[in-house]
Amino acid sequence: MEPNQNNWLRTNWIEKGNAQRIFVELKFTLRDCNSLPGVVGTCKETFNLYYQETDSEVGRSLRENQYVKIDTIAADESFTQGDLGERKMKLNTEVRIIGPLSRRGFYLAFQDVGACIALVSVKVYYKKCWSIIENLATFPDTVTGSEFSSLVEVEGMCVSDAEEEADNSPKMHCSAEGEWLVPIGKCICKAGFHQKGDACEPCGRGFYKSSSQDLQCSRCPAHSFNDREGSWRCDCEDGYYRALSDPPSVACTRPPSAPQNLVYNINQTTVSLEWSPPADTGGRNDVTYRVICRRCSWEPEECVPCGPNVGYSPAQSGLVDSYVTIVDLLAHANYTFEVEAVNGVSDLSRTQRLFAAVSIATGQAGKNSYINITVHFHLSAHCFEVTAPSQVSEVIKEKVQQRSIQLSWQEPHQPNGVITEYEIKYYEKDQKDRIYSTVRSKSTSATVNNLKPSTAYVFQIRAFTEAGYGTYGPRLEITTKEEATGSAAIVSSEQNPVIIIAVVAVAGTIILVFMVFGFIIGRRHCGYSKADQEGDEELYFQFKFPGTKTYIDPETYEDPNRAVHQFAKELDASCIKIERVIGAGEFGEVCSGRLKLPGKRDVSVAIKTLKVGYTEKQRRDFLCEASIMGQFDHPNVVHLEGVVTRGKPVMIVIEYMENGSLDAFLRKHDGQFTVIQLVGMLRGIAAGMRYLSDMGYVHRDLAARNILVNSNLVCKVSDFGLSRVIDDDPEAVYTTTGGKIPVRWTAPEAIQYRKFTSASDVWSYGIVMWEVMSYGERPYWDMSNQDVIKAIEEGYRLPAPMDCPPGLHQLMLDCWQKDRAERPKFDQIVGILDKMIRNPNTLKTPVGTCTRPISPLLDQSTPDFTAFRSVGEWLEAIKMERYRDNFTAAGYSSLESVARMSIEDVMSLGITLVGHQKKIMSSIQTMRAQMLHLHGTGVQV
Ligand code: AMP
Repeated sequence: MEPNQNNWLRTNWIEKGNAQRIFVELKFTLRDCNSLPGVVGTCKETFNLYYQETDSEVGRSLRENQYVKIDTIAADESFTQGDLGERKMKLNTEVRIIGPLSRRGFYLAFQDVGACIALVSVKVYYKKCWSIIENLATFPDTVTGSEFSSLVEVEGMCVSDAEEEADNSPKMHCSAEGEWLVPIGKCICKAGFHQKGDACEPCGRGFYKSSSQDLQCSRCPAHSFNDREGSWRCDCEDGYYRALSDPPSVACTRPPSAPQNLVYNINQTTVSLEWSPPADTGGRNDVTYRVICRRCSWEPEECVPCGPNVGYSPAQSGLVDSYVTIVDLLAHANYTFEVEAVNGVSDLSRTQRLFAAVSIATGQAGKNSYINITVHFHLSAHCFEVTAPSQVSEVIKEKVQQRSIQLSWQEPHQPNGVITEYEIKYYEKDQKDRIYSTVRSKSTSATVNNLKPSTAYVFQIRAFTEAGYGTYGPRLEITTKEEATGSAAIVSSEQNPVIIIAVVAVAGTIILVFMVFGFIIGRRHCGYSKADQEGDEELYFQFKFPGTKTYIDPETYEDPNRAVHQFAKELDASCIKIERVIGAGEFGEVCSGRLKLPGKRDVSVAIKTLKVGYTEKQRRDFLCEASIMGQFDHPNVVHLEGVVTRGKPVMIVIEYMENGSLDAFLRKHDGQFTVIQLVGMLRGIAAGMRYLSDMGYVHRDLAARNILVNSNLVCKVSDFGLSRVIDDDPEAVYTTTGGKIPVRWTAPEAIQYRKFTSASDVWSYGIVMWEVMSYGERPYWDMSNQDVIKAIEEGYRLPAPMDCPPGLHQLMLDCWQKDRAERPKFDQIVGILDKMIRNPNTLKTPVGTCTRPISPLLDQSTPDFTAFRSVGEWLEAIKMERYRDNFTAAGYSSLESVARMSIEDVMSLGITLVGHQKKIMSSIQTMRAQMLHLHGTGVQV
């Protein structure tokens, strides 16, 4: 109401930081002068906004005229007093901009010259462009420029593993409004990396990116690989190369094979050679040819280079066409010409040289002494796979009779070693079951006897060297002659019916003996049996049932070395790198290491070694495991990589199973898996056993300690040593029947009269199920072996482990049927477990509600938990005496009170380890069941 108002309000000093342009947002209400009676002339509807820049706080010393006016602020909306006395408050928002500012800070001041005003808020701010990644470059937080129209240019920094594109460095512009504008230039992912969102990620294994210019990682080209991430190129597989001029995107290639069909023509002292291109160009199209001329004395080894006096047309090397003429040779001399196909990588390969060669005598046009085309193949001296002989392909029928056929053949083109024997396999062409018979010969001919007249036979031959058998050559079909009807023929011994019957009978007996010993009894001892020998040739039989692969007992081999090489690949010791010792086997240390075969990725392996100073029998027994394992190929059976028998130490190389044996693994991870995970492990073991039993193999020592676990929790059946059950397994003990047997895992009929079958393996499998579900608990705890045998005989079966789904325990009980015919087959077990895994509800068990065994329980002769006189004695028996005080303190002084305990009670004693809770609970459950059975007293929980 008074005129000439001049009221000031000033802010604190505001430090401006990096800001150059400051925004001031005011919120206020202002009363309409009309609504104020009696203030005409003095009432104002505006106020003034000022600022003052200073480098520091200046206290109250500023004078009014030092302030710079920003604006007079008027309200867009003023308010009046309503008719009914209510006020309609209207909030005004005004923004003003100040700048460019040059000092460190400033004050704002508000001058009121008579308005009725309420200043509600003052917001002082500046704008910036927020840090951003654009085109793989990072642009930092940037404060806007001082002018409304200014753009701040900012250089970007490439994100990690990216680089600036040539002459195109990344830039952006920060506008006064705090927006990024006008991106220019960019970063690109370096070689070996590709863009994923706003980052560069390394190319995966098996992929590469050779240049930052490429957008994507590409799969390694043919015959190359890499096993690192972030590669800019892939390495060539062994035996393959990349020429210097080859970009990383092309396949690795190899030198070509030898030229083919080399032919020559001599005219006095001129020789023309022509040939066909090599069968294998090595994957390149830059094949040329070069000719090497040597003059030889009549001794083939003594050859010297032909020297400069000999001329070549069109050239000696770099020949594009497949012919050359060699002139100015000496008359009546002996020459050898080698024609080699070369390509862009021939000079990189020092391992092989392949050429066609011809030896020629000059000066006798049209009457050349000999032609000899040979293809040579040289292997490198470093790591190589031992190669078996190539096929025996050139087989000639020398003599065909009614009951015999005489064959001869050429040594294979690439024997790759000394051939010690040939194997002739034959069968009747029209016979349904394809029963093969085999004859062996140490020379390149053999006579096969005891054939039927007028019958078509199919023959195949393969060679044997130290490296093992080569592949069979092509099938050769020969039909024996018709039976002669004349009287002269009857007297011939070849057709004498008595002899025929005798031969058939003998052969039949041999078949029967082999079937009985090989498949029904399935003997496992790896022995050495010397078969009768008839000169160079020996007759034996192998049986093949259509559709199924059958396990062959290595014992049926006269020479155990041959069995090893029949089933196991011989590895070169230089391919194996031993890294550390991981265990002790029966025959020596077990190590872990790496195996790198040519052209393949290196893999982790376990290496079983044969200790020095072994006897021949030990060596045989040791390698027997490989002869058995090598016959198997299943994801749940430990895989044999190969053997080293030619060097020392003798080694068996097996796939590496990172988590070692299953029993120790489960004990280490007590209580840490879900039921589904445990059932998954059991399913794997059952699948492995199904495969083995389908092959006719009886394991005899199936137990969690003989299952190996890899890093993916895949369980694989292992331990195939033939004599292991007897010598190696610490669980095996002598039984009254003489053999050494792992009693707790073995079916009663196998303990009593050594009846080992797949059905006895099923019993053992049931025990493995129990071991798995109880996390490696010892079956039958501390009961003695004798007591276990007795208890089983009297019908006692292991109770369900803690938290074991009833369905699984039922399956265990089924595996432990006394009558082995009643036990499920592995095939059925796999089916049942699959069903459970598909319906996880069937695997749910409320804690502590495990079903009790349905079979009769212990009587007085079996170890009786009720026989313990005190809680302490009982705890000692189950090796839990450390909790004696816990039981006493909680008032559990009698076994009866203990038998009533629930899992919660056990936990309330302060027993925190899940494994111990389970062990105690499992024992309590057994105790309770015994009390129920023996005294007829129900124990209520
Ligand atoms: P064995 O002679 O087969 O009983 O092997 C002795 C120990 O070596 C086993 O208990 C395992 O701990 C370990 N072992 C054997 N084979 C392998 C393998 N393939 N991978 C990892 N460890 C193995």
